[in-house]
Amino acid sequence: MGALSGVRTVVKIVNPATEDVIAEVEMADAAEVDRVVERARRAFPAWRAVAPGERAGLLRRFAALVEDHAEELARLEIANAGHTVGNARWEAGNVRDVLNYYAGAPERDHGRQIPVAGGIDVTFSEPLGVVGIIVPWNFPMVIMTWGVAPALAAGNTVIVKPAEWTPLTALRLAELALEAGIPEGVLQVVPGEGEVAGARLVEHPDVRKIVFTGSTEVGKLIGAKAAEQVKRVTLELGGKSANIVFADSDLARAAESAPMAVFDNSGQDCCARSRILVERSVYDDFLLRLAEAVRGVTVGDPNDPATQMGPLISAEHRERVASYVGDLEPYVIGSCPAGPGFWFPPTVLAGSSSESFRRAFTEEIFGPVVAVVPFDDEADAVRIANDTLYGLSGSIWTRDVGRALRVARAVEAGNLSVNSHSSVRYWTPFGGFKQSGLGRELGPDALAAFTETKNVFISTE
Ligand code: NAD
Repeated sequence: MGALSGVRTVVKIVNPATEDVIAEVEMADAAEVDRVVERARRAFPAWRAVAPGERAGLLRRFAALVEDHAEELARLEIANAGHTVGNARWEAGNVRDVLNYYAGAPERDHGRQIPVAGGIDVTFSEPLGVVGIIVPWNFPMVIMTWGVAPALAAGNTVIVKPAEWTPLTALRLAELALEAGIPEGVLQVVPGEGEVAGARLVEHPDVRKIVFTGSTEVGKLIGAKAAEQVKRVTLELGGKSANIVFADSDLARAAESAPMAVFDNSGQDCCARSRILVERSVYDDFLLRLAEAVRGVTVGDPNDPATQMGPLISAEHRERVASYVGDLEPYVIGSCPAGPGFWFPPTVLAGSSSESFRRAFTEEIFGPVVAVVPFDDEADAVRIANDTLYGLSGSIWTRDVGRALRVARAVEAGNLSVNSHSSVRYWTPFGGFKQSGLGRELGPDALAAFTETKNVFISTE
């Protein structure tokens, strides 16, 4: 709309725990995106020419400023996205750590020397140019940084388009980058609507790569559009991950940890273990233990350190989540505050043959709703786990190490954990199988996603 009328749209940024308006942010139209791309394009030659050690130093200074402002960034994320204070502090720390980790990359971004006759053959790792990073609202500053840090380390200039509802930490991080001495135009944040500013970044010929994190639906559109220019893409999309509990597992630990494996960040987590598969012989026992654990989840003021789960991001999203529960009779419902804020209680749906249950069991809800079903044996567990379009993460609970490895190899997902629910460490690769994505972020190889390999032969004859 803004792009057509020439009048910029202004979005009111709302605190999801209180419904208070905390800021107003102008959305960029296509012409503004073009200006931002032009600045990034002009900044590129000088940035790629910055000596590796100096680029590393600038990233370290950026990380140090994030550390100095960690509490401020965390408070901003609490107010803007409703994250619990524990999570928001972890996220600010993760931004610092990811910047520091990739600050170690510029001096190590080397090519190879390959034996050939009549000369020498060397490869160079060349930056791509301008990189566009399109970010969702569920983990705004963290997801932005997973793209920004390796892209900058490799010598690219970067444009971030945050989600409409959550631009505040991204805007603050861009200020801190400038303060750290990263030159103008090297890292820019352009708030805007997906279909206007996001779409323009994807179609702009001077943007050489798009890193998109968001829904599978929009990811497919972006992949198709990018293909017209053979534009590079990394896609981090939806998930419907399985938490598989075998009868030989430590059932108490499996049940105690299951709620936060899906309800963390109010279930607005692409890695949420939102399907629990339990071996039939312990199914009833597990459900009783799970119900007790769910009743113990503290939902409330995100600023209170005792809070485990905050609100959903918006009223619109709450309606969408509620539609999955609809007429189903939940097995157990936790508590949540009444009054202002987009609250939704932790909700457990247990195995049923109804069509509504089937929908809740297969579609990504992105809210605090988990569906539990029984399975008969290992093969049945793997079959159910893989019966999805997605393949992002998952957990396997068993004391049998052989089975743990067999099932981990058989489940079609990019990030699995055994007797644990951890998915993300910045120094290990992260990404999805099947329709959960394309490419990997984080880990030691992330720079490969932001560089082209150039091969040069030099004759000695
Ligand atoms: P979304 O797809 O609606 O939006 C994501 C971003 O894309 C936003 O910035 C939006 O403005 C932009 N966008 C929307 N339409 C666009 C278009 N036509 N062209 C260009 N950009 C466009 O997703 P969301 O609702 O913000 O986030 C939730 C989704 O993100 C969930 O499906 C979740 O699983 C996924 N996600 C995946 C990962 C992962 O790493 N795999 C991580 C977090 C979230």
